[in-house]
Amino acid sequence: MMQRELSDAELLALDLDLFSTDCERPELCEGDAGHTSNRSTESCCTGQGTAEVTCSANEQSSNQQNVSEQESDPLCEGSSTKRRKWDARIPLERFGRKYLSVTDLSRQAWCEQQVVYGMELPHIQQLRDEVPVVKAGSCLHLARGELVRELPVFGELEGIFVVGVVDELCYNSKGELELRELKTRGQRTYPSAAQKRSHHLQVSIYKLLFEAMIKGQLNKDTITHHLHLRTEQPLGSEILVHAQKVGFTINTFGDLLDLMLLNLTYADIPSVDTMKIEYCYQADASVIGTEVVSFEEEWVKSELKHYSSFWKGQREATGVDIEEAWKCRSCDFADICEWRQSKAEEATQKNRANQCK
Ligand code: SF4
Repeated sequence: MMQRELSDAELLALDLDLFSTDCERPELCEGDAGHTSNRSTESCCTGQGTAEVTCSANEQSSNQQNVSEQESDPLCEGSSTKRRKWDARIPLERFGRKYLSVTDLSRQAWCEQQVVYGMELPHIQQLRDEVPVVKAGSCLHLARGELVRELPVFGELEGIFVVGVVDELCYNSKGELELRELKTRGQRTYPSAAQKRSHHLQVSIYKLLFEAMIKGQLNKDTITHHLHLRTEQPLGSEILVHAQKVGFTINTFGDLLDLMLLNLTYADIPSVDTMKIEYCYQADASVIGTEVVSFEEEWVKSELKHYSSFWKGQREATGVDIEEAWKCRSCDFADICEWRQSKAEEATQKNRANQCK
């Protein structure tokens, strides 16, 4: 089933900016053939300490843009709360996001406040990306990438467009469709329960997205609406030649989307039966162990509802609970985190009150 000539992976490999309806960048609307892609490939650490590295793709280019904008923005010099008060836009708009990546959502399961700081102050998190252990993890993941099929999955969840890349999708020895995710770790140990929870959410979202795609629940309007794409935009000659070679007559980006969606719906692809996460030790690529994840639809949907409500501006970002304050020890933003400070003050006041009793 994965042998389609025009795959969704190929579609995402297109420079979507060329089909964008956004005119803030006039060169795109003029169809400048010399335009260089502004879409970046995400190579991210999870923000869960340097023990673990997760790779994914299709992170928003706007993140990169925001780095330079924010570094020179005087508002960024104030506290996070002050910045938010200045800016009445919902977080998705404030961070210039047309879509979220699955890793954005799984990171939220670790600490939402950390995700926000990562976007508001990306130059701090970029320092972490330079840490050798993180680089080593990324390299290992890429090396494994040659052996696996990195399948893009995308669609609308809770009114937000979400994009992810499944490490591997294949049939296992029982003939079941198996979704596999690789996680590299700096220590030869299993992750904590909190890390596992975030990983479970990640693969479960992949399954949701994938199944909506193959069941025909994803439609062209959803894609073009969220990504601000122009369906009437003519395709480049390379794509036209490729399409003709494999027997398709398409002219516009909209034709290509129609073809992709039809292909997905009628390819008779089964649902994912099993989800597995393989943990590898990054120093020697040995397997630490494999975790079978059971799909708990109600849990995934309620998590998605909760996390998306932040992006839609329905609530403020929250940091970790006091029981999980240990997460702050490995956090890049611990020194400036207002959430952490407020929790520490709360705890001090509680202690004082208890002493006075
Ligand atoms: S210091 Fe703690 S609460 Fe604050 S962003 Fe980091 S992990 Fe989250």
